[in-house]
Amino acid sequence: MARDSGVCGDLELDNHFVGASRTKSLNSLVTDSAAGATAYATGLRTWNHVVAEVPVEERNMEHMHTGEGMGNMNHSSKGKQSHLKPVGTILEGAQLAGMRTGIVTTTRVTHATPASFSSHVADREDENEIAREQVISLELNVLLGGGLSRFVNSSVVGSTRDDTLDLLMIAGNRGYEIAFDANELQERVETLTTTGTTSSPSTPNPHPFVHTKNGPRLLGLFSDSHLPYEIDVHGGLKAFNNSQTPHNDTSHETPSLAQMLDAALKTLDAKWSDTDTINDNGFILVVEAGRIDHASHANDASAVLGEVCAYDRAFQRAIEYALERDDTLVVATSDHDTGGLSVGCCDEYGMHVDRVVEVTQSAEFVASQIVSRIFSEIGSDAEALNSSSAVASVTAIVVDSLTNANRDPNDETSKISSEDISTLVTSAINASLTGESATHSYEGYELQNKLGEVMNAPNLIGWTSHAHTGVDVPVFAFGAQSHSFHGSHANFQIGRAMIDLMDVDPEHGYMVFRDRLGLVNPSFDEPDR
Ligand SMILES: [Zn+2]
Repeated sequence: MARDSGVCGDLELDNHFVGASRTKSLNSLVTDSAAGATAYATGLRTWNHVVAEVPVEERNMEHMHTGEGMGNMNHSSKGKQSHLKPVGTILEGAQLAGMRTGIVTTTRVTHATPASFSSHVADREDENEIAREQVISLELNVLLGGGLSRFVNSSVVGSTRDDTLDLLMIAGNRGYEIAFDANELQERVETLTTTGTTSSPSTPNPHPFVHTKNGPRLLGLFSDSHLPYEIDVHGGLKAFNNSQTPHNDTSHETPSLAQMLDAALKTLDAKWSDTDTINDNGFILVVEAGRIDHASHANDASAVLGEVCAYDRAFQRAIEYALERDDTLVVATSDHDTGGLSVGCCDEYGMHVDRVVEVTQSAEFVASQIVSRIFSEIGSDAEALNSSSAVASVTAIVVDSLTNANRDPNDETSKISSEDISTLVTSAINASLTGESATHSYEGYELQNKLGEVMNAPNLIGWTSHAHTGVDVPVFAFGAQSHSFHGSHANFQIGRAMIDLMDVDPEHGYMVFRDRLGLVNPSFDEPDR
C-alpha cells in the first residue's frame, strides 16, 4: 500500500525483497511480539508473551542449570509441567565476541521486541526488570527509543518503577552519554565521536574518566512511553511527499527513526582510542519501527503509512551505509502482521489514497485529546461524567476533535454516522472513568480502536482484527551473505541463520552477562575498563 499509493515515493525496501518469514510461535499460529522477536534473537521458538526464554519440560530438568532465571512453573504443555529457561541472544553472543551492539526503536526500549534481544523474562509486561537487565547485564553501545519512566526511581514523578533503582545514574556511571531529545542526541554523538571521552552534563553522577573497554556508549530515552507517530509530529503524511525525509529539529524534540539510526551508526563506527582494535570486530544493530504494529492494532491506516514511510527512510540509510563496504549485511523483516490490512474492501474495486493522506492526526492522538479535554472541561469524577449534560459536552468534544484531525463528521464524505458518534461518546466517557487511556495494553483500547475504524471508513481499506494475524511477512536483505535469506523460512530459521553468519555463541554470552545481575552495588560496577 505504501508503495503503490505513492504516499512516500518509491520504497527502497522493494529493491531488496528476497522472501518470506513464517511467523507462528510455539503455542499459537498467531504470534505476539515477544515470541516473534525471540525467534529472531535466539533462533528458537517460544510461547507468546515470553522474552528470550524457552519452555523445557520437567523430565529434562537434570540438564538445566538451577537457581536464578528459571522462571515459574505456571505453564504446562500437553499436561506436563514446564519451566522457562533463559536462552542467549544474538546480541549477547556478539558482545562476547567483542563486537559492538545497539538497539534502536520507536517504542519503549523495554517493549517486547527490543527486550527479546537484550533481556530474559517470563512475561513481557515485566518491563522494570527488562530495563534493569538492559543497563546492568549488558554492555550495549547504543540503546535509543522511548520508555524513560522505567529508568528513573520510584520517587521521581512519572516513574513506573516500584523500587529505588536509578538506572540513569547507573548508566552514567557505566560510561553512557545520555540524551533526552533530538538535539541532545546530536550533541552526545558529537562528543562520543570526536573526543572519545565521557563527561556529559546530562549524566547525573558522571565518572569523568570512564573509558569503557568496548567503545562508546549512548543511551537515548526520548519519551516516557512510546515515541509519537510521524503523522502527529508532522501534521500528516505530506512531510513524506516527493520522497522527502522529514527532519525532526528542536521544535519536534523526539528524533525520527532515521535520525536515531544515523546516530547509532556513527557511534558504532566511532574510533574510540588510538589503541582501539575492538572496532575492527564489527557490530550488530537492531532497528525496530515498532509503531507500525501499534497503528495497525488501532486500524489507523494514516498512522501506519507514516510509520512505514519513516521505516523505509531508515532502511534507505542502512543500505547507503552497506553500499560503501563489502562486509555488511542488512536484513529487514517483521515479527508478524497486525490487523490484517487489505487494500480495498467492502465489495468495491479501489482504495482512496487521498482520503488516507488528508488525515492530520492519529487515532491515538485524537483519543488522548478527547480524554484530556473531558478532564479539563467536565472533570474526572463519576458524578460529573454520568450527568445528563455530560453527553452533549462530550459529543461536542468528539466532533471537534475529529474535525481537527481532518475527519469532519458533518461532511457526508467522511461517512461518520450519528451511531458512530454516540458509540465514540460512550467509549470516551468510559475511557475517562476507567483511566484506560493511560493504562491500556498493546491491543489498544475501545475509544482508540473505534476512532481508528471511524477515521478509516472513507479509505476503502479493510481490516480483519485489532490483534495480530498469522500470515507470512516479507523479508528483505542486502549485502554480504544476503542470499541466505532467499525463499520462505520459519522465523526461528532466520534467527539461526543470522547467528551462524555472525559466528557468535549466544548461550555462552548469556552465561557471562547474567552474572552481573547479582551485583550488590551496580552503581559502581566497572568504573574504569
Ligand atoms: Zn502488536
